[in-house]
Amino acid sequence: MLHSVPAPEENRPHRTFPEIVAAVYEDPRVGHEARELLLAVAYGVDLARRDKTVTPLKVARRKLGVEHGCRARYDRLIAADAPRYEPPYAAHAQTGICEAPRLRPYKPRPYTPRQKPTEPAPTPLRPLPPTIEHIHPGYTPPRDWRTEDGVCGATAHLCVLEKAPRTGWVTAHWFCRRHQDHADRVTEQLRAHNEQAPEPVPNTGGLLPCYFKADWARVYQHYSPRWTPPRYGLCADDWPAFDDAAPRPTRHSRLRILTGAGHNLPED
Ligand SMILES: [Zn+2]
Repeated sequence: MLHSVPAPEENRPHRTFPEIVAAVYEDPRVGHEARELLLAVAYGVDLARRDKTVTPLKVARRKLGVEHGCRARYDRLIAADAPRYEPPYAAHAQTGICEAPRLRPYKPRPYTPRQKPTEPAPTPLRPLPPTIEHIHPGYTPPRDWRTEDGVCGATAHLCVLEKAPRTGWVTAHWFCRRHQDHADRVTEQLRAHNEQAPEPVPNTGGLLPCYFKADWARVYQHYSPRWTPPRYGLCADDWPAFDDAAPRPTRHSRLRILTGAGHNLPED
């Protein structure tokens, strides 16, 4: 059954609606769609505090409306908040750029015209002034992988995935067909390494459990049937952080909005 009674076992005072809204706006992990969802749920929870007959998630679902003329926006936003690991684009792209060492060093060749001009020599003109190069201060030209990196750079179709030993996060290495043997060597090098890598730490979703207490596993499962709960927990606050440069948001009390296994999910 859905209700809005603050969890009695929490000794910290529960935040008011404006405090939740402020926290959502200040949370750097919250994108614009997650913000929409969190604010709608916060609104539902706030209504349910005064009126015990209100179901917070039903209110949120109604307020978020319908998109593309058919599907409730709430359903998609909940599925998008399911905590999971999203691999980088390069790991599931169709092609990449070969990163194996070049077989032959790159030598830029000057342009040679196909045939000599047959027209008469042009009238001599005054020499042109030197070319002015408009470059912003601090500009550095883009890297030329052909000369600087010594990598092949050809369009690559062979992808070898490397898993990070602590996070299990994936890095894609791409190789072209001429570098098949190199790709095989790298695959062999990474085999033991990849087998020992842990299940990837989630890197997206898991924001609803940071703000509201509920049986979120059941809710996520309902809107994203193929989703499985990550080993590291549902709440993004609980995931191990390996990047010391990014400070984690401070933990805060969560509002209990659902208990029991009753009518947790809003019906159509
Ligand atoms: Zn290559």
